[in-house]
Amino acid sequence: MENFINETQAARVVFGSGVIGQVREELNALGAKKTLVVSTPGHEKKANEMAELIGDICVGIHAKAVQHVPIDVVEEALKVVKDRKVDSLVSVGGGSSIGLAKAIALSTSLPIVAVPTTYAGSEMTPVWGITENGLKKTGTDHKVKPKTVIYDPTLTVTLPKRLTVMSAMNSMAHSIEGLYAPKVNPIISLFAEESIKAIRSSLPDIMKDPSDLNSRSNALYGCWLSGTVLGSVGMALHHKLCHVLGGSFGLQHAETHTVILPYAVWYNASSIPEAIKIMARALGTDEEDVAGFLFDFSKSLNVPTSLAEIGMKEEDLDRAAELASKNPYYNPRPITKQSIKQLLESAFKGERPPKGMEFQGGVDQWMLELPF
Ligand code: NAD
Repeated sequence: MENFINETQAARVVFGSGVIGQVREELNALGAKKTLVVSTPGHEKKANEMAELIGDICVGIHAKAVQHVPIDVVEEALKVVKDRKVDSLVSVGGGSSIGLAKAIALSTSLPIVAVPTTYAGSEMTPVWGITENGLKKTGTDHKVKPKTVIYDPTLTVTLPKRLTVMSAMNSMAHSIEGLYAPKVNPIISLFAEESIKAIRSSLPDIMKDPSDLNSRSNALYGCWLSGTVLGSVGMALHHKLCHVLGGSFGLQHAETHTVILPYAVWYNASSIPEAIKIMARALGTDEEDVAGFLFDFSKSLNVPTSLAEIGMKEEDLDRAAELASKNPYYNPRPITKQSIKQLLESAFKGERPPKGMEFQGGVDQWMLELPF
């Protein structure tokens, strides 16, 4: 075994059906006296229920979070925080609600109790993002990481089937890429393998019965672990591509992760034999067919498997390849604009990554144009 440093950040996690009833106790433990509930407009009902559970220390509900955390939304929320002398935040919802709470914490250091209702995993990371003038700036700061996370699967039964699958595949992507990302170590690999197993086994059961709390718990447990992976290691090609496609072409976050994942694995497979072994074991498939299995898995769960289906325009593929290959970043297999373009073209068409066949990208255009 090679030497390693493990830096998993501590968080208090309260997990299980019905644990949402303990939110007041958790706030008391943090010394909270004036709590603001942060949520998305679609979640006002859940935010109201949360305010009732919090009781007399709740000073309001701010249900104005939207995807990608626009700066004007942050500024409005900061004004509310100042006016009401807020000393603690409870975020109810997915990555967008948590994203706004993190942006508030970035300039106020207020403690966050996160109550996730999707599988995106942001609650386990110190990563914040704010969008200004069309550009999403991200950074890492431990003061934005929630102090307490309450995972209650009863809050996830309302997630529609399609959103359930895509959000969980977004989460699985954290663990898959975490297996070959910078700073991976044996502890993180254990988390990643266990989370892939839990997500892979729970999704087909949730599709049969979305209100089954056992499979919802299993999925949420897997997503907690994969959020921990995301918060502990660096990332590579998959996350870079999704960032570019979401940030510059407006594709929806979880949908993009779901479509890109098989292609990123196909692209890197020949350079990551140890990680592929773990993925194959966790997914219950052949090492030669991990990328194809991920593609088939999404298809069997009736979610899109091509960029065309989620709104990407064919004429934008070249610019996306340019943006995703422009600045150097870690990836186990070298990246060129041409190889990324080929990957994106396959993903655009939704071609199944073939079993046992290495991705053939990486040949620069000038080589293809040689006259012999
Ligand atoms: P989201 O929070 O935007 O939620 C998606 C939709 O699902 C919303 O319309 C919401 O109202 C609805 N919803 C949420 N929970 C529901 C439930 N239980 N039942 C019914 N509907 C529900 O999306 P998301 O995928 O959770 O998060 C995506 C955002 O999170 C992106 O902006 C992404 O960049 C960010 N993110 C950040 C990190 C990080 O570490 N900073 C990690 C992962 C994701």
